[in-house]
Amino acid sequence: MTVSRRTVLGALGAGLATLSGCTEAIRADLGSREVSESTGPLAPPSTVQPAGSSKGWSGLRDALEGRLVLPADSGYAAAKRAFNPQFDTRKPAAIAQVASASDVQRCVEHARSADVPVAARCGGHSYPGYSTPARGLIIDLGRLRHVTVRDDGTAVIGAGARLGDVYAALAARGRCLPAGSCPTVGISGLTLGGGIGVLSRQYGLTCDQLVSARVVTADGTYRSVSDQRHADLFWALRGGGGGNFGVVTHFTFHTVAAPRVTIFSLRFPPGSTPAVLGAWQEWVRSASNQLWSNLVVTSGSPPSCRVGGTFVGGAGPLQTLLDRLVRAAGATPSTRVVGEKSYLEAMRYFAGTATRERFFGTSRIMQRPLADPAQLVDPVDGQPGVVLIVDALGGKVAAHQPSDTAFPHRSALATVQIYTQTHADTARAVRDELGAVLGGHGYVNYLDRTMPSWGKAYYGRNLPRLRTVGQRYDPDGVFDFAQNVSRA
Ligand SMILES: Cc1cc2nc3c(=O)[nH]c(=O)nc-3n(C[C@H](O)[C@H](O)[C@H](O)COP(=O)(O)OP(=O)(O)OC[C@H]3O[C@@H](n4cnc5c(N)ncnc54)[C@H](O)[C@@H]3O)c2cc1C
Repeated sequence: MTVSRRTVLGALGAGLATLSGCTEAIRADLGSREVSESTGPLAPPSTVQPAGSSKGWSGLRDALEGRLVLPADSGYAAAKRAFNPQFDTRKPAAIAQVASASDVQRCVEHARSADVPVAARCGGHSYPGYSTPARGLIIDLGRLRHVTVRDDGTAVIGAGARLGDVYAALAARGRCLPAGSCPTVGISGLTLGGGIGVLSRQYGLTCDQLVSARVVTADGTYRSVSDQRHADLFWALRGGGGGNFGVVTHFTFHTVAAPRVTIFSLRFPPGSTPAVLGAWQEWVRSASNQLWSNLVVTSGSPPSCRVGGTFVGGAGPLQTLLDRLVRAAGATPSTRVVGEKSYLEAMRYFAGTATRERFFGTSRIMQRPLADPAQLVDPVDGQPGVVLIVDALGGKVAAHQPSDTAFPHRSALATVQIYTQTHADTARAVRDELGAVLGGHGYVNYLDRTMPSWGKAYYGRNLPRLRTVGQRYDPDGVFDFAQNVSRA
């Protein structure tokens, strides 16, 4: 079954378009957006056996507590809609809006016995659209979005929650989880690929806060995984990428007291970008973990740049740090915005408009400062419509070894996202030019269907171990897709 299933799914996937991308590119330039707190029930622990095999969709529909949406049903177009409109033309066979963990078991059992492609969906932001499988079953976790904060500061978060849900619910209890900026991004995809955000240097990646998870694996079993139970699977869930090993229904995270932060944004004049990058890379490397920053380069003739970020602390010490950056860059910013905020206010500031958008995104990893910063800027000089988002790593991200979790880029200086809404071919060419300068790695949450040597690029030396976990928990390829670790 393994070979035939993978072969069939590969053929289906080969025709799919590859464009996708990220509004994160412009997040610090955008205004705020409110996201309401979710109130759905927490799914009960599984006491239900996996449903028996059912060849037709009506059998699955009858078995579900939630709703099964088929192409002929009203609401099908809305139910299958992902973040990137690029994937609106894809036609999944069914969308299961699951209401419980046992619903997830029934879906996995059905997909396995009926031999249809299946993928979980949380926020629907997968760059190559892997949560929208053509002619397959989407397990939409959106109803499992409840956030429960316990007295010990851990939080149980339903795997369908989006970051806006998470931030609002945690803030109501004075807590926060270091995670990404876009409120509609799903907690699932973000965590399973690592999770980079404005508190990464202070507290680590989102996956570093994970205490345990509840997962339905390919055999339909509902497992509780942690350092003590199924430790191999728990390791793989922390950076091994969404969709590979099973369907997570709930995450339990450590949370931290929500800090007050100071946000900042400095826009530099065109022409100064290599000098600013040269100063920024040393500045961010030597700064305390309280500082997180990104540098966004916009292509053009010449390219321009902006430095933004967050400081865990007050405006006074941050202004001193910013003065140091400006002096080292030798360029005067045309705008300099600094403001103290609660953590929730800061996340709403960074949230942007979060409207759906067509994009293509890919990435490289910057291991260390460049001796010649122009090497990063030159590939977008004179190019149209491409943005480079250089997000700092370091700090607590580097407190772990590359093999401690599946996220391998622990000692790197930054991720470099290459993002476009209009010029995918140019972005791919920039990716390849930067690969020659920075090396061949990339960040799995900016998954690119056309990434050269993608297995090694996304997982480095963790790839063989991830393949072993994949084989162990999904030997028949039930969760197969074009970039499943078993194919790398
Ligand atoms: C606008 C935007 C902003 C972003 N900002 C950031 C950021 O600040 N930091 C960062 O690190 N990344 C960021 N990303 C990247 C983001 O982390 C990835 O795209 C992530 O995969 C999205 O997760 P999702 O749940 O929204 O997507 P989905 O498409 O729902 O899922 C992504 C993948 O995970 C699988 N999956 C989903 N749920 C589950 C589950 N419960 N169990 C197992 N597999 C599952 C899906 O099948 C799919 O393969 C951003 C992306 C976008 C588009």
